[in-house]
Amino acid sequence: MNIHEYQAKQLLSEFGVAVPNGKVAYTAPEAEAVAKDLAKDMDGDPVWVVKSQIHAGGRGKGGGVKVVTSIEDVRDTANQMLGMQLITHQTGPEGKEVKRVYIEEGCDIARELYLSLVIDRSTSAITLMASTEGGMDIEEVAAKTPEKILKVTIDPATGMLPFHARQLAFGLGLEGKQVNSAVKLMLGLYTAFNALDASLLEINPLVVTKAGQVIALDAKMNFDDNALFRQKNVSELRDEDEEDPAELEAAKHDLNYIKLDGSIGCMVNGAGLAMATMDIIKLFGGSPANFLDVGGGATKERVTEAFKLILSDPNVEGILVNIFGGIMRCDVIAEGVVAAAREVSLNVPLVVRLEGTNVELGKKILAESGLPIVSADDLGDAAHKIVQEVKEAS
Ligand code: ADP
Ligand code: MG
Repeated sequence: MNIHEYQAKQLLSEFGVAVPNGKVAYTAPEAEAVAKDLAKDMDGDPVWVVKSQIHAGGRGKGGGVKVVTSIEDVRDTANQMLGMQLITHQTGPEGKEVKRVYIEEGCDIARELYLSLVIDRSTSAITLMASTEGGMDIEEVAAKTPEKILKVTIDPATGMLPFHARQLAFGLGLEGKQVNSAVKLMLGLYTAFNALDASLLEINPLVVTKAGQVIALDAKMNFDDNALFRQKNVSELRDEDEEDPAELEAAKHDLNYIKLDGSIGCMVNGAGLAMATMDIIKLFGGSPANFLDVGGGATKERVTEAFKLILSDPNVEGILVNIFGGIMRCDVIAEGVVAAAREVSLNVPLVVRLEGTNVELGKKILAESGLPIVSADDLGDAAHKIVQEVKEAS
């Protein structure tokens, strides 16, 4: 699960991580009130930053982050951002509608750095990554100048210790009191990461202010969905507006569904088989419309829900069902497929490949259903047939 920048900053500040003062607003008048409130604690000429809150990065380059110097400009900018489709390199060409803006005090930036915490599967440990190339795409830094990325792996037995943080701080060229400020921030991030069951925490940029403070100017946090049951405060931050409606519906039925942009809907049991099915569709010149794992105990009801989900995607021109009946019997699956195809009055070609226990009986049920279901013998045959069927139908 993802959350917004302002929510991540709120959570992190509870762990002692330094962030600029700010508050979320849903309307332009609210933004104006927040700006006036923030101005009370500002020295010198006030500067605010109006930041679009969407679950995607690259907002700055896409026009979703604006620095302003008057209350009127805060209001006008908020007015203009709220309701706009913000397009960044992470949103896809259709962009994302901005429904909330974050009003933050402007920060006097001396340097922009990069810092993130990830779970490194190869060492089974949380790894901190830091770079002097803040504000840039870290993927680009990793590809072109990998030597500019510093890494520290934390042994879970000891947890993060001050020396780990100092090592990174010195590596980033911090000096004097900046080091202490950075150490406090990094230790806070590590504690928050563990305590909140995060799976990713990215601060880009981490800034050094002209006054020598080290603060988190942006914050991206992802959480482990399997731990949400024990993270009530985090799961309450879910913003369903930011999530794909079909994926939300799938989660309600315990289906693992990820929407893709092809035209062949896939219904498979087992994630590995689902991946293989997508690959082989590609191999035969087609393109999968989704990843869908109906799981081991695919009942008739779940198969029906899965069909509905696949068909809710207007790009779907054909469906490939690929089920391996191990514990599940093929005849039960076949009955489910037939019932589901009737219920949703299927109007696109359907190819079914069944293998495993009671496969003959399963194929008989499909053949005798009277429905235009094309039966396939193996994975290659199935992929070939669905790609052909879709070509002929279009
Ligand atoms: P994104 O990563 O989505 O583009 P950021 O929060 O990183 O959004 O903001 C983009 C840039 O805007 C930052 O790199 C920084 O230069 C500037 N910026 C963001 N917040 C502030 C702030 N409070 N004060 C001054 N500049 C800011
Ligand atoms: Mg950023």
